Amino acid sequence: MTDFAVGPRVLLRRLRELMAEPLEAQTRLDRIVAEIARNMVAEVCSLYVLRADEVLELYATEGLNPSAVHLASLRVGQGLVGTIAASARTLNLPEAEKHPAFRYLPETGEEAFSSFLGVPVLRAGRTLGVLTVQNKTKRVYREEELEAMQTVSMVLAEMMASGDLANLSRAGIELDMRRPITFEGAAISDGVGLGYVVLHEPRIVVTNLFAEDVDLESARLHDALGHLRISIDDMLNRDEIAADGEHRAVLEAYRMFAHDTGWVRRLEEAVQNGLTAEGAVEKVQNDTRARMIHVADPYIRERMNDFDDLANRLLRQLVGGGRDALLVADDNVIVARTMGAAELLDYPRDRIRGLVLEDGAITSHISIVARAMGIPVTGQTRGVVSMSENGDAIIVDGDEGRVHLRPPADLETLYAEKVRFRAKRQELYQALRDKPARTRDGIDVRLMMNAGLVVDMSQMEASGADGIGLFRTELQFMVASTFPRADRQEELYREVIEKADGKPILFRTLDIGGDKVLPYFRNAPHEENPAMGWRAIRLTLDRQGLFRTQIRALLRAARGQKLSIMLPMVTEITEIEQARDLIEREESYLKRHGYDLPSEIRIGVMLEVPSLIWQMDRLSGLVDFISVGSNDLFQFIMATDRGNPMVGNRFDSLSCTFLRALRHIVRDCERLSIPLSLCGEMASRPIMALALAGIGFRTLSMSAASIGPVKAAFRDVELKDLSDKLNAAIDHSDKQDIRAFLADYAETNGLTL
Ligand code: PEP
Ligand code: MG
Repeated sequence: MTDFAVGPRVLLRRLRELMAEPLEAQTRLDRIVAEIARNMVAEVCSLYVLRADEVLELYATEGLNPSAVHLASLRVGQGLVGTIAASARTLNLPEAEKHPAFRYLPETGEEAFSSFLGVPVLRAGRTLGVLTVQNKTKRVYREEELEAMQTVSMVLAEMMASGDLANLSRAGIELDMRRPITFEGAAISDGVGLGYVVLHEPRIVVTNLFAEDVDLESARLHDALGHLRISIDDMLNRDEIAADGEHRAVLEAYRMFAHDTGWVRRLEEAVQNGLTAEGAVEKVQNDTRARMIHVADPYIRERMNDFDDLANRLLRQLVGGGRDALLVADDNVIVARTMGAAELLDYPRDRIRGLVLEDGAITSHISIVARAMGIPVTGQTRGVVSMSENGDAIIVDGDEGRVHLRPPADLETLYAEKVRFRAKRQELYQALRDKPARTRDGIDVRLMMNAGLVVDMSQMEASGADGIGLFRTELQFMVASTFPRADRQEELYREVIEKADGKPILFRTLDIGGDKVLPYFRNAPHEENPAMGWRAIRLTLDRQGLFRTQIRALLRAARGQKLSIMLPMVTEITEIEQARDLIEREESYLKRHGYDLPSEIRIGVMLEVPSLIWQMDRLSGLVDFISVGSNDLFQFIMATDRGNPMVGNRFDSLSCTFLRALRHIVRDCERLSIPLSLCGEMASRPIMALALAGIGFRTLSMSAASIGPVKAAFRDVELKDLSDKLNAAIDHSDKQDIRAFLADYAETNGLTL
């Protein structure tokens, strides 16, 4: 053994030469381990690679019995090597046999060695294998040696990721990198999508790890850091970033990290050891990710994620390249840790089959927008980003909240069948598009759609909706980074009116607050119970400028046409009076200034706060229509937070209690001749839509995708018969399970729900 432990730089130079030589993969690996052993004055250097069956297989060795290569193996968690793989942590042991996990593999002849250093081979936070060195004498490996091993392991990780090691073992052996994985997450937007992974934050592939010139790399690193800091300061100084709120907090954290001396020192050290600036960023990022695996505290995880994002920004600064040119296939599934609603709109809709989020709740902005666009989504899909590579096959099951990464062929066939079945159903619905939702006994139900963005409007034509029963104007505010100006609002409303082509639209005034948070909204107070707090009409009556700007935009956009304005979260009659007063003031202002007004202005309310049920007589004469917001009404009648999965499934909106409340509203509206509709999620499920028609609703508004299935159900039903039986069931038995009753009714009468 020659004695020339000259540090990582020489080793890296040798590796660079080895990588450039035209060698077979196995030979290259053999030469690499030999080189490491020589450089570190170690008698042994071995590489174990993680297989899909959770076994670590010996892939190359210098110093152990060469015939054990591809035969010796350990399970994850077994022995020292298995422990390193399971924990993603380094082990540095002068007397390996004293470690409780020590297990000796007789076929390798390793009994002769005492000291042991093993590092995980990591890529994007996941373990791909383990690299070890061993010596006969008792020694503790130095910090520089550890650093060198970690750096070398990055080279090996890239070799594995690029597929170089794929066929070195016996036939049929799959590497862990290619293992099929199923993730259980939350179902956020219905539908099934098959396609190929597109990482929203693309993993920047650092191909150039080894530096020729340390000073040059150090200068490049500091230059990039300088630019990064300036760009963060710029973002912080932009007007649209509110004084407080989520965006600013994240950016402040970035700024702090960009100046973090520990981080910068580690980057600098990696460069001094012979890595390029980008190689150094990747190495430090790997260390952070490896540590992240062990952090359970959500706050610290969040901060470490910030570091990760920052490292990505720095890499982009050094290597260039952005999000473009990522959509290589026609069928793309976006995989992201988290994502802003506006960012989703940057992708071409026709090439996106699904969205997988590590965060993401049913009420988050991105979820609302994705649902509006009809994209299947799963949320809470933990670990999916680090397990995915761009181009991996993936299936998103938005109905079940499940994701299959690199699915086996039979599963893919099964899902492809499911997609075909859906497409067939879709054809059937398409055929019904221009037919009325008329029941067998000749009763017409009006089916409208819910919308909120211009992109939704294309579905109006496709679905055959009779109009827009709820236009959520706040969506425009939620996808923007600042308050949309009056002219932008007017432009949107005008476009929507044009696209609706004479069909009615109920424009709901801003329903922000509650779970609909605008990050740029200054001085939004912290509230214990935001759903019951300062939101919707309460907020806009306090901030009259907001309300009046919106009303003016609506009045101007609808000139010469009918305009319907709907007020959300009305609790007391006085709120309607105040709102009417403000609307009239805007009308006379525009008239005074010579603007044409709409030909007719109808003002209605959402009935979603129970208190209105006892003010129905006073409502008549004051409103032109009522639309039940069953999402909020259910939440307030049943005291059940609509966004909380702990209680979300506890009570059924098809319960006698809730249906009685709804029927009471229907009867009052009939008595008082107030036009009535319902626009909550209830209307979107055929079984619930039947129940609603059964208790007397004749206008329902739902997601565009639901119009086909709901119409198909109506066209098959004898509504009078269903209605009689359903009302009897609601009246006569508190124990009656209405959902079961309806399922039973559907079955006996051959309805497909
Ligand atoms: C509702 O509450 O039912 C409703 C339609 O409004 P949103 O879901 O926007 O609160
Ligand atoms: Mg509501």
